[in-house]
Amino acid sequence: MDHCVQPGLLPIEEALARICNQLNPVQEVETIGLHSALDRVLAAPITAPINVPAGDNSAMDGYALRTQDCTAALNVIGQSLAGHPFTGALGNNQAVRIMTGALVPAGADTVVMQENVQRTGDHITLTQLPEAGENIRRAGEDIKSGSQVLAAGQRLSALDIGLLASLGIAQVTVVRRLRVAIVTTGDELLPAGATPEQGKIYDSNRPLLAALLTRMPIDLIDLGIIADDLPALRSAFTTAMQWADVVISTGGVSVGDADYTKDVLAELGEIDFWKIAMKPGKPFAFGRLGQGWFFGLPGNPVSTAVTYHQLVVPGLRHLAGETISPPQMLSAIAGHALKKQPGRTDFQRGILSSNNGITTVISAGLQSSGVLSAMAQANCYIRLDAERGSVAEGETVNVIPFDRFIR
Ligand code: AMP
Ligand code: MG
Repeated sequence: MDHCVQPGLLPIEEALARICNQLNPVQEVETIGLHSALDRVLAAPITAPINVPAGDNSAMDGYALRTQDCTAALNVIGQSLAGHPFTGALGNNQAVRIMTGALVPAGADTVVMQENVQRTGDHITLTQLPEAGENIRRAGEDIKSGSQVLAAGQRLSALDIGLLASLGIAQVTVVRRLRVAIVTTGDELLPAGATPEQGKIYDSNRPLLAALLTRMPIDLIDLGIIADDLPALRSAFTTAMQWADVVISTGGVSVGDADYTKDVLAELGEIDFWKIAMKPGKPFAFGRLGQGWFFGLPGNPVSTAVTYHQLVVPGLRHLAGETISPPQMLSAIAGHALKKQPGRTDFQRGILSSNNGITTVISAGLQSSGVLSAMAQANCYIRLDAERGSVAEGETVNVIPFDRFIR
């Protein structure tokens, strides 16, 4: 915990803890096919119904035999192919031709690779002596039947899906998708594609959030751009709260004259307005809206992106039942001086690189919270603790590589 934050500002760790303490994970589950299970959160642990591999099989193309016979000339009595096992058993001085993945025949204790064998007709002699058990993949050496392979709360990766398929599991029980609504607020906003107008800017936050949210196990409704107008905001939030588990808005949460979001939320929900000791992203709103939850992000696009990533993503993952661990933090050498004022935790946007084993980070460019172009170049945050001041060139700093939830 940072002790040296500006008075009245909530440390980011505390904001995150408050969010996760209030959001009770969704309990409804559904059973779905493996093909649509990517990124879904397991509702129950998975136990292996079988051994993987199911039986002892060959790791090589070669010959299955008994180690005790290996100095003799061996009679090749048949073959074991992947999917077509040899059905008999080996006797004295016998061998079976075997291919990778094929079951090792009864009686054999070793597979000799074909490169170490000389074959004449139906007989082989070994040019190199094997060790007992060589080139055999044992039943259950990957996964033992009855063991837990995945825990409840795990978000399924492509590798997990491959793993489940290897166990013959075709369906999984997962937490239902969250319903998320997004809305951007501001009289100045135009949708991309519209003709430019004096004094207007394009709405970058909604397409940005909509794109980032495709990485989450959610169904999305996009309520569009809402003007800085009390009835319009009331109507948008009222619609959103009928359906959504989570409503995310951007803009209008600071203290400007046209910031009506606060008034409407005070009327419709129980929302706390926080000033968080983080940069970018000081103003932030969080609380109950109907049966669901509300996140109000600051309007500047970099502030939107960083607060979404640092506060909304963990909140959504927690709500979706996922067991989450803190992001991976690395140490890197600052390639140049970095400006920082004490008081807030900085999430500066940086470019991390590694050369001859030395990891260096440089600024991705302008650090103003309106400058999305620099963040789009970045591949990491340079996370600077609240109490510290500027960084000198060559100092070691903490870096959090961008993960899939922000890129
Ligand atoms: P606000 O939080 O509404 O006071 O907005 C802060 C700044 O972010 C202002 O410069 C806004 O014009 C800008 N802004 C607000 N919403 C968006 C948006 N959706 N896309 C791009 N910029 C925005
Ligand atoms: Mg605004």
